[in-house]
Amino acid sequence: MENERKSPEERQKMTDLERIRHSCAHVLATAVAKLWPDAQFAAGPPVENGFYYDVELSHRVTPEDFPQIEQEMKRVVKANQVFEKVVVSRDQALADAQKGRLAALGERSAPSKFKLDIVQNIPEGEPISYYKNGDFIDLCAGPHVMRTGNIGAFKLTHLASAYYKGDERNPQLQRIYGTAFKNKTEMDAYFTMLEEAKRRDHRKIGQEMGLFALDAEYVGPGMPLWLPKGGAILEELEKLAKETEFAAGYVRVKTPHIAREKMYLTSGHLPILYKDSMFPPMEIVEKEPLIKTAEGADGQGSEKPQADRYYLKAMNCPHHHRIFAAEPRSYRDLPLRLAEYGTCYRYEQSGELFGIMRVRSLNMNDAHIYCTEEQFAAEFNAVNEMYLKYFKIFGIEKYVMRFSTHDPSRLTGDNAKFVNEPELWKKTEDLVRRVLIESKIPYVEVPNEAAFYGPKIDVQVWSVIGREFTLATNQVDFAVPARFGLKYRDKDNSEKTPLCIHRAPLGTHERFIGFLIEHYAGNFPLWLAPEQVRVLTVGDDEPLVDYAKSIVKELRAGFVRAEGDYSNNKINGKVQEAEKARVHTMLVVGPRDMQAGAVSVRLHGKGNAGAKPRAEAVAEILAAILERRG
Ligand SMILES: [Zn+2]
Ligand SMILES: [Zn+2]
Repeated sequence: MENERKSPEERQKMTDLERIRHSCAHVLATAVAKLWPDAQFAAGPPVENGFYYDVELSHRVTPEDFPQIEQEMKRVVKANQVFEKVVVSRDQALADAQKGRLAALGERSAPSKFKLDIVQNIPEGEPISYYKNGDFIDLCAGPHVMRTGNIGAFKLTHLASAYYKGDERNPQLQRIYGTAFKNKTEMDAYFTMLEEAKRRDHRKIGQEMGLFALDAEYVGPGMPLWLPKGGAILEELEKLAKETEFAAGYVRVKTPHIAREKMYLTSGHLPILYKDSMFPPMEIVEKEPLIKTAEGADGQGSEKPQADRYYLKAMNCPHHHRIFAAEPRSYRDLPLRLAEYGTCYRYEQSGELFGIMRVRSLNMNDAHIYCTEEQFAAEFNAVNEMYLKYFKIFGIEKYVMRFSTHDPSRLTGDNAKFVNEPELWKKTEDLVRRVLIESKIPYVEVPNEAAFYGPKIDVQVWSVIGREFTLATNQVDFAVPARFGLKYRDKDNSEKTPLCIHRAPLGTHERFIGFLIEHYAGNFPLWLAPEQVRVLTVGDDEPLVDYAKSIVKELRAGFVRAEGDYSNNKINGKVQEAEKARVHTMLVVGPRDMQAGAVSVRLHGKGNAGAKPRAEAVAEILAAILERRG
């Protein structure tokens, strides 16, 4: 829930920037209270990229009010008021709230009604405190920056409306959003980045380039159709993954998109844990008995038709586990690395859907590595190496691994969130931590966010313009293989359960291509460009067109996505059209090029690269594609 109360410990973890932003929310409230003394404030937390404050106000705030509010805020910042913390008794807080003194510059005729409600809901025994800046007093547990002057730069950004505590039975409030930074340079850089991100919006560029279509009416919301040009990118990514995984000893498998309910009851995704993220089941009644066991399909010895439920798969692991189980396994078979570009379906809330970044059908660069405990560190390390190799290919320079661990207090009881295997948690978390430290990969450790079956690593990367994306996860699973009864026969002939590593370095096609569109601003490197080469003729003389066609033919024989423009339009117009379509390499041929057996090379966005013998130009194109040069 959005207004879930944070514990004092959680609050102390606020970063410096969050403190600045939350403090700026108080400054916003100070300014609003000055302009409209009847304002009733609710909550004002820091959020991703800024802060907000919810307020009930007879005046309808519009962006036209921002300059006036910001001017008042500037005065407060300039006055460099101290944020003074005052611990008060519950009675004092209740009395002040009654007098309208909280989130206000002085006493008022009406009580501070939301603050009153908040005080009443603070658990017994938890300290109650105010933060004062100048005459403004707010009920707040902090923490803050020392002085209003520590807010280096700020800006109000937008407005929204929200129900008090997110509950529509409560009053509707005006939510004023803003952001704040340590200094103006950082704030300017942020807004420049936002502008650039808007220019690089994957939905806009995706449409311009004809990469994908979203057809909510016929196909359904959040289920992208990959058009031929997007399909080309997708094929290249799969080719990269297949080559890389083959070299790393993976084997490829293929599994259906649906499975019986039993699959997910066994994995533990059903009945509860993952239910809301899955599409509702399909009821199916078989005409013939499904499974002929001694007891019969219904467990009663009869084999009458039975209704069953099938689910669209939301993850590929259970299917892969059944592939592991399909044959007897020995220690000699391990590590077994099963890879598949698997299609999954997740029932994201329609409000959460966003272009191809947040979708309901996704193609995942999935694989599951089954290994022994002794093999684990080497396997895990190899997975990390694969990430680094990919980062290099895509020019991803900034990345961090978020290592999510379990919370030992949540293994049992009503609050249980993790499989109750304290020894295994400790062992695997230690192993993962050691690999991360030894491989010198930047990482941060986040307690209490592991998957229910083991520690997890989320890989966060920054696009070239500095925007952060969570691309892929990497998980250790020591619980689900056991639930599926997966076994291998060890050297000493005993039966053991393998560990399983889930990994998807290229994430899903949807999210990864969405990221790449922004990262490259649609100007894909040659190997990924949907149209890699276009041969343009100067005029449409038949011998010239034949020459151009023979170049296209030669390139296509080398699997280059090459097209020709042989029309008699002016060459400048033809070049412009190719530039607009973001064709990576243009080969312009005129009569003189033809006579010399040459081509004039032009690169998208970079202009003329000079004339070259045809054979040399073709060889260079083939080599650049083969080496996946950025
Ligand atoms: Zn505060
Ligand atoms: Zn998995």
